[in-house]
Amino acid sequence: PRLHKASLGLAEIETTMSREQLAVERARRAFCTGRSKPLENRIRQLNNLRRFLVERQAEIAEASKKDLNRSEVGIQLFETLGLESEIQLVIRKLKQWAAPRPVEKNLLTLSDTLYIQPEPLGVVLVIGAWNYPWAVTMFPLIGAIAAGNAAVVKPSEVCVHTAKVMEELLPVYLDKELYPVVTGGVTETQELLRQRFDHIVYTGNSMVGRIVMEAAAKHLTPVTLELGGKSPCYIDKHCDIPVACRRVTWGKYTNCGQTCIAPDYVLCEPSIQERVIEEMKKCIQVERRSCTVQYCLLEFYTDDPKSFPDYGRIINERHFKRVLAMTEDSAVAVGGDSDQTDCYIAPTILRDVKADSKVMQEEIFGPLLPIVPVNGLGEAISFINQREKPLVIYVFSTDDKLIKRVIEETSSGAVLANDCLVHYSVSSLPFGGVGNSGMGCYHGKFSFDQLSHLRSCMVKPLKNEGLNNMRYPPHTLKKLGW
Ligand code: NAD
Repeated sequence: PRLHKASLGLAEIETTMSREQLAVERARRAFCTGRSKPLENRIRQLNNLRRFLVERQAEIAEASKKDLNRSEVGIQLFETLGLESEIQLVIRKLKQWAAPRPVEKNLLTLSDTLYIQPEPLGVVLVIGAWNYPWAVTMFPLIGAIAAGNAAVVKPSEVCVHTAKVMEELLPVYLDKELYPVVTGGVTETQELLRQRFDHIVYTGNSMVGRIVMEAAAKHLTPVTLELGGKSPCYIDKHCDIPVACRRVTWGKYTNCGQTCIAPDYVLCEPSIQERVIEEMKKCIQVERRSCTVQYCLLEFYTDDPKSFPDYGRIINERHFKRVLAMTEDSAVAVGGDSDQTDCYIAPTILRDVKADSKVMQEEIFGPLLPIVPVNGLGEAISFINQREKPLVIYVFSTDDKLIKRVIEETSSGAVLANDCLVHYSVSSLPFGGVGNSGMGCYHGKFSFDQLSHLRSCMVKPLKNEGLNNMRYPPHTLKKLGW
């Protein structure tokens, strides 16, 4: 009878709760049962998540097409294949990561047992952005499951169809109390942020990042903020310019420039500006025959990117207007046309861009590539250092010393030399920002550690008490043998 009464009480309490409160409350209760902790349970959930990604590929692709005009191959290439291999890696390594980690001893601790024991934090909140909606929510979720936590997943409302697939289908595969999906917009996210979590992983813009951090501070909840910013790209005049331009063009116009690690602007010497523009133009538009890169099989988007299936659209009218307004005070070298009815902006290159022009004031997050002429590497480095720390700095050069100088004299979440975007898929490197581009990091073991408490454990023997004499009062010189 007592049990019956207790459960009635609970049901009554639950009726007074908001949907968000309820999801968090149930996740915490499920966490407290201890079922998220055994390694075999974590692995079972991770396998289920992998099965979801494979079995529901059609639903995932259909939603991505509707939300982002992304092709089925595109969604696999940029999101789900990476998630599947992350899950495989985690399953392979979990036992090792979760095991006690012995640490160094000194003379005083020689007879003690010293180790670090990773332990789950509790309930994690994952708030995702819309531009790579699967990657930015599922990578943190994989880390949360691996580390033995419960996790509330809040996908971006901007990708309506994707959020719906997550809400409806994830609970079919995962423990729905431990890993609930809560959909909704600003109001729902703010209601979630009023709840107490043990960690929050937020991906999105820096302004909302501040809101998240402020809400987290009320509960002293640690945060991982995966933000954006203006990631510069320096092209050295002595490098293989056609190959460099091809890689930058790919990095920039993928997902219509709506990639947190897209090269935001190019810095190069004035002497190579026209060459850079010409090479990039060829990559965007040329016919196969005239391509100067030896292994070029196809032009990226043809002379008519608008009807090309792999060229995306700006996510909505608000962002369309924001991006277009950035071109107003700069000279268009390539592209520049647009169509509001379709949120289409052509792959666009801007030449001779000044530091005070509109396009240089905030993260572009669209298909505009400003070229800012600078007199050499020194000027490029000071240009970068006068601004907020970016998520990534790209440098194209065959000179190792030049690359090393960029690494030593600047700061950013990451540095990638001679390519774009691909460091994201290397799970042995931490992914994250610094300063204005974010805090904390994830991917592979870094996610596991980020979402674990690394607990110090020291086990001393109760013998050898004589050795402790010195520390007990009275603290006399005699005790020290002086
Ligand atoms: P968004 O509009 O989808 O917002 C992200 C999340 O924040 C959503 O879940 C939304 O519900 C929530 N949100 C929005 N306004 C809020 C508010 N006022 N209060 C509480 N919650 C709120 O995404 P976005 O911010 O447009 O995303 C684009 C930005 O994200 C870019 O700056 C990009 O660089 C960055 N980004 C970073 C990474 C990374 O890994 N570092 C990855 C993707 C995107």
